[in-house]
Amino acid sequence: MNKTIHQQMFQQMQSKQLFEQAKQYAYEYADDALERNVYPSSQALNNLQQLHEPLPLTTTSPAAIIEQLHHIGSPATVSQIAGRYFGLVNGGVIPVSLAAKWLSDFWDQNTPLYATSPINSTLESVTESWLNTLLGLPKSTVAGFVSGSSMAIMCGLSAARYRLFQNHNWDINTQGFQGAPRIRLIAGKQAHGTVVKAASLLGFGSDNIEWVDVDDQGRILIEQIPPLDSHCLLVLQAGNVNSGAFDDFSHICKAANEAGAWVHIDGAFGLWAAACQSLKHLTKGIEYAHSFSVDGHKTLNTPYDSGIILCTDKDALINALQANGSYIVYGEQRDGMLYTPEMSRRARVIELWSAIKYLGAQGIDDLVVALHHRAVQFADELKRAGFIILNNVVFNQVLVTIAEPIPTQDKPHILQQITQHIQQSGECWVGTSTWQNQPVIRISVCSWATTEEDITRSVSAFKDARAAVI
Ligand SMILES: *Cc1c(COP(=O)(O)O)cnc(C)c1O
Repeated sequence: MNKTIHQQMFQQMQSKQLFEQAKQYAYEYADDALERNVYPSSQALNNLQQLHEPLPLTTTSPAAIIEQLHHIGSPATVSQIAGRYFGLVNGGVIPVSLAAKWLSDFWDQNTPLYATSPINSTLESVTESWLNTLLGLPKSTVAGFVSGSSMAIMCGLSAARYRLFQNHNWDINTQGFQGAPRIRLIAGKQAHGTVVKAASLLGFGSDNIEWVDVDDQGRILIEQIPPLDSHCLLVLQAGNVNSGAFDDFSHICKAANEAGAWVHIDGAFGLWAAACQSLKHLTKGIEYAHSFSVDGHKTLNTPYDSGIILCTDKDALINALQANGSYIVYGEQRDGMLYTPEMSRRARVIELWSAIKYLGAQGIDDLVVALHHRAVQFADELKRAGFIILNNVVFNQVLVTIAEPIPTQDKPHILQQITQHIQQSGECWVGTSTWQNQPVIRISVCSWATTEEDITRSVSAFKDARAAVI
């Protein structure tokens, strides 16, 4: 007689064979990842078609599932754990964080309350306090562990919305927007798209954002910021997603704070400059802001699904995000769901905690400054090879164009072709962007695994691509 599905699953948990198989494949992948082409081959992409199968009606062998995932899936990944992926702002993976994630995958903790996972709750408290020390934030700052900066920005603006309305005797939670006093959302013209998304989702309306002009690096122009008062929510950024530039917090945050405005800092990747002795001048003055969004999965190189909302106004954050239900019993200890929009949530703090514990303050400093040094190296070598660098490389971002005189209307196409050539070489991966109405090639150095040789090798790919296209 065939075993029932339930009997099979008990057996799978006991025998561990499946996990051994997955481990074997994972190791094969890791061994290959450093040297393989960064982007999947067209063959690997074509093979993805095989996954379009009809819904299985009965059970499939688990070993076959894992095998299919490895044989079709692994080659169709973008090699992001190696050192030559420079798209988006991605970050590699800290080995001990990955190992900690593996272990805790078996725990499968749900984390809304201390009662549902004491270990998660404890690690959240510890990590919260470590983050405050690392980033130089007020001791009272609380942290919520969310999926990424998109969600962290939502949380920061939600807390701001709650507090600013409350200061005008309006409870946004119960009274909503209709008939509410006016709250003004003010941001630099180079604010990240997720800020605009949050403005839409939270009912501010993206058309109502008051945009402030920026300088040639994308920094908000202080003298263009309208006079601030207690109706204002100002969004600044630590790390422009193209140029890596930082707003001038020391001249803005304190004054905004004194005027009764709320300041949120989008520091998705750049806030980590605050943890680096030689770069922390970039974040001077952030301690006067009210909320901060930052990722673990970018600059800090934790595995994905790691964003953090930091808020100096605990009461506002909790009130903005809190949910109630007869079966939810908040305790004396930290209940994580008070600080996040989600209720059920995986124990993502584990990867962050293990990365910080492994690196320590000094290791984080070394990690961040190395990204900066590799970016500067990239820019220098490209300049020597006759490319033009359009931004001041203050952090990890480099914006590149070609020096050859090309008619303006042909430039987007030529740069696109060069970029495609680089991508198809498999040597490295870079994307394109627009900077001051010009098309550019955009580089983000954000993996600990990027070596000096990786940079030199990638610059060669740039030269080859230029030679092939022009
Ligand atoms: C990546 C990024 C975001 C969005 O963060 P996710 O973690 O991808 O949700 C927001 N702002 C900036 C500046 C970013 O670089």
